[in-house]
Amino acid sequence: MARAAVLGRLTWQVAGVEQVVDETPRVRTIVLDVPDWPGHRAGQHLDIRLTAEDGYRAEREYSIASAPDEPVAITVERLDDGEVSPYLTEELRPGDGLELRGPIGGYFVWDPEDGGPLLLVAGGSGVVPLRAMLRHRQRSGSDAPVRLLYSSRTLGDVIYRRELDQAADGVEVVHTLTREQPPGWTGPARRVDAELLGEFAWPTEDGALAFVCGPTSFVETVAAGLVELGYPPARVKTERFGATGR
Ligand SMILES: Cc1cc2nc3c(=O)[nH]c(=O)nc-3n(C[C@H](O)[C@H](O)[C@H](O)COP(=O)(O)OP(=O)(O)OC[C@H]3O[C@@H](n4cnc5c(N)ncnc54)[C@H](O)[C@@H]3O)c2cc1C
Repeated sequence: MARAAVLGRLTWQVAGVEQVVDETPRVRTIVLDVPDWPGHRAGQHLDIRLTAEDGYRAEREYSIASAPDEPVAITVERLDDGEVSPYLTEELRPGDGLELRGPIGGYFVWDPEDGGPLLLVAGGSGVVPLRAMLRHRQRSGSDAPVRLLYSSRTLGDVIYRRELDQAADGVEVVHTLTREQPPGWTGPARRVDAELLGEFAWPTEDGALAFVCGPTSFVETVAAGLVELGYPPARVKTERFGATGR
């Protein structure tokens, strides 16, 4: 029975595109109507499958950007020479169908019962599953203290900027801008390194749970830095988006 349920979840189905929202010039959120959605947890992802007219198929994974009680949404960054992301960010329109399966993953997830403090560290589009956690925290009434350290190239590349600017009580957001900073910028202006983590991360004695997401090299540097600071490896959860990105 349980096995059938798991396999059932992973069946491909066609979702409808409800809405597309431009987050930055390169990033778009796609809100989906998934008729047979079993529900998801904050941090999980799904698979998208595109099929060309000649039958060629490409599959990619995308984190779920929305809280469990919201319509399923993904947020995709366009890689100009990529196969799938240009289609999702430029071609797809409301009313179109999109083949997907999910939700997938039971490790990189946060439930309100997990409590806090939470340390969220994002590189680029790695903020997507962390945004689902932030929304879930707020919508579930959790008061877990959260710090989000978010690395972007420029201010214009910050995804969900307005939403993050209006962060809920108990949520601290620090942006680091690695390539270009606007005049008067007083925040950090470099890649996340051990020193930045040391300044910003919860002290180890607070027993924080860390979620780190972004390009593989980013995730590896940050996770190693946290372990060096004294975070137990089991309290540092990681999600790697691949070699792409910053
Ligand atoms: C769990 C998970 C969650 C993810 N969530 C998100 C998300 O929320 N948002 C998001 O935007 N992305 C996310 N990703 C990344 C996503 O799955 C895709 O990898 C991304 O969108 C790029 O896909 P693409 O088809 O556009 O590019 P691809 O065609 O896969 O190309 C990616 C890059 O690799 C290069 N490349 C391709 N093939 C080769 C090759 N053979 N040799 C060398 N270089 C090559 C290309 O030049 C391009 O720059 C996630 C990945 C994982 C694993």
